Amino acid sequence: KFIVIEGADGAGKTTQANMLCNFFEVNAIDYLYTREPGGTDVGNEIRNILLNFKGNINPITETILYSAARAQLIQDVIKPKLDQGINVVADRYVFSSIVYQGIALGVEEKVVADINKIATESLMPDYTFYIDLNVESSLARITGKKDRIEQRGIDYFKKVREGYISLTKKYPIITIDGNRNKEEVFKDIVEHMGLI
Ligand code: C5P
Ligand code: MG
Repeated sequence: KFIVIEGADGAGKTTQANMLCNFFEVNAIDYLYTREPGGTDVGNEIRNILLNFKGNINPITETILYSAARAQLIQDVIKPKLDQGINVVADRYVFSSIVYQGIALGVEEKVVADINKIATESLMPDYTFYIDLNVESSLARITGKKDRIEQRGIDYFKKVREGYISLTKKYPIITIDGNRNKEEVFKDIVEHMGLI
């Protein structure tokens, strides 16, 4: 299965992805973890530009860069693994772009979706979990140095949350209440997948 975990920075995506991978590990189920942007050599170079570049990056350029990293990840990693019947746990996917570059940054939603349709060859997940958390709590969880995107501040992250919530009404996305301890959040996810 292709399992995607979505949510704002600080919502607990990576923690839940790790717990899910650990669950597969313990139960001797084959899996692969990917995060984006990144996950391939060229994808990691693109990630470095996206998160650390000091000059101007236009919204449409940013959109294409995220989807370029994603295209490489799909062709080199995700598709081959799914073809072998291996579970893929992805930390972010197309919905991140629709929310961050589309709704929050202002690129037309359809443009983001179309670019990603090409980049992903329309590959969509079997499960998408959106971990919902209020903006104040998620920002408070981001510690250490903030990356280029995280520096955008509270108004941007309010749009990110509203964007995710609006997508849950249009797409088959399962909303998970992230305002609980990580064990409760995880139990919710595995129950939805019918794993327990
Ligand atoms: O999830 P992670 O923290 O690794 O994401 C890296 C950065 O990329 C975050 O700052 C996130 O907000 C940003 N991002 C983005 N647009 C996407 C995907 C991620 O701005 N489509
Ligand atoms: Mg982050």
